Amino acid sequence: MGSIDTGNILSGLDIASSIAEADDGLVSENPATGRAIACVRRDESGKIETVLAASRVAFRKWREVPAPRRGALVRALGEQLRRHRDLLGTLISLETGKIKAEGDGEVQEMIDIADLAVGLSRQLYGNTMHSERARHRMFEQWHPLGPVGVITAFNFPAAVWAWNAFIAAVCGDTIVWKPSPKAPLTALAIHRLACDVAQQHGAQDVFGLLISDEAGVGERLAGDPRLPLLSFTGSSAVGRKVATAVASRYGRSLLECSGNNAVIVDESADLDLAVRAIIFGAVGTAGQRCTSTRRLIVHESCYAELIDRLLAAYGQVCVGDPLAEGTLMGPLIDAPARAAFVAAVAEAEAGGGQVLCGGKSLEGPGYFVQPTLIAARNDLPVVQRETFGPILYVMQYRDFDQALAMQNAVPQGLSSALFTLNLRHAESFLSASGSDCGIANINLGTSGAEIGGAFGGEKETGGGREAGSDAWKTYMRRQTNTINWGSDLPLAQGIEFTLAGNRNDL
Ligand code: NAD
Repeated sequence: MGSIDTGNILSGLDIASSIAEADDGLVSENPATGRAIACVRRDESGKIETVLAASRVAFRKWREVPAPRRGALVRALGEQLRRHRDLLGTLISLETGKIKAEGDGEVQEMIDIADLAVGLSRQLYGNTMHSERARHRMFEQWHPLGPVGVITAFNFPAAVWAWNAFIAAVCGDTIVWKPSPKAPLTALAIHRLACDVAQQHGAQDVFGLLISDEAGVGERLAGDPRLPLLSFTGSSAVGRKVATAVASRYGRSLLECSGNNAVIVDESADLDLAVRAIIFGAVGTAGQRCTSTRRLIVHESCYAELIDRLLAAYGQVCVGDPLAEGTLMGPLIDAPARAAFVAAVAEAEAGGGQVLCGGKSLEGPGYFVQPTLIAARNDLPVVQRETFGPILYVMQYRDFDQALAMQNAVPQGLSSALFTLNLRHAESFLSASGSDCGIANINLGTSGAEIGGAFGGEKETGGGREAGSDAWKTYMRRQTNTINWGSDLPLAQGIEFTLAGNRNDL
């Protein structure tokens, strides 16, 4: 850790001057040491008005720019990210505690979504329909929606902004971003790159930023009718508040909230594959992914063998400095997260759960805990909710329908996976009466989605979809157009509505 020169990273990303000199700024903490990395200026509440107003003005101009030219800006930004991948990946690792490979991977995900958005900028297709009326043409087109509010969580401080911002930008929207106060440096660095590129493309204020640790800032964005779309990524508890505020003003919300993701392993499964996927899903990012594997539902015939193999694998997980080579698991984000981990283990034990390995927080600086396996019932309250840490609850089943029912019997519905070589089980899992999640995988884990598909989940995960497929439609407004190019005025459904007398005299 000592070999990392924070000053070089901050100046390499051109944000050294944004760091507050005063002590009363927002502290960005390194979760691996518990020490401050830097102090960032908080945006005062008056700044919300300035940023929103500028975003609205920018939108009026940006929506007129042809979509492929909007794509050119995103392409240039993708190029900048390629150039800064290493530095930005290190900063993400430093600020969130995820290992360097995952920090770099997050930047790669931004680059991938930029590529996708560039292609999309020439494909914002609307349908044409055959009108039932003669000499009428009917079609739909997609128009830019307006400034989009983007509130993001700490655990993907870069990629989630890109998922939203790049798609929104090619759709002709402007973006107002409120990042997590736990990763303000990453947000500043990305914003710096985005603003430079926007400036070069004559697109000032397409990207806005509000840095604050006050819940009131997010609440104001949720309540502001100038943001026709509010994209929220975070916990279901906060998402519920955001959804209510946005709905009450007839806004549109895109919610990406908590997950409680299960892997089912049936009696035919390839356990070599399963073990590797479960380890990455449960231990990767210290269990701080929305798609982290939190529950493991195993057929009774292979339960003992799988647990033995997992215990052996867990014993090899190197926990430590996220920037050191060989580390597989870094720290949790902060002291409250570590306390929530400790409380969850205690609650599971009090409910009859048995800790099979781990379960403790580690001494010393930073917020490290042990990767943990707990045998526990699916219906325990602690198993039913998301604890954002490396705890995997394991349980057995006898028949496949029971496994499916257990997998679905939680309030969240984000990601799910089945390990099987049984075609009937696989198809059943993916069928309408199978997994109720937004993501359902066969023979790969719950975590690590590609950007080409639509990403999101059901139930308390919020129902939103981001990234690929047709997720772009959420960022635009649909307009249905009908043109009458004839000389008559037939009504739809064949309705006759003719006044007495000669129609042509009217
Ligand atoms: P969080 O809910 O604590 O905070 C998320 C964001 O909301 C932050 O920017 C925070 O400042 C802001 N916020 C807090 N109070 C607010 C309010 N009243 N109104 C508006 N905004 C408010 O979440 P977190 O701890 O940063 O992130 C972890 C959570 O995010 C987990 O539950 C995880 O599953 C979820 N998550 C979901 C996805 C997904 O795609 N489904 C992706 C990443 C994270």
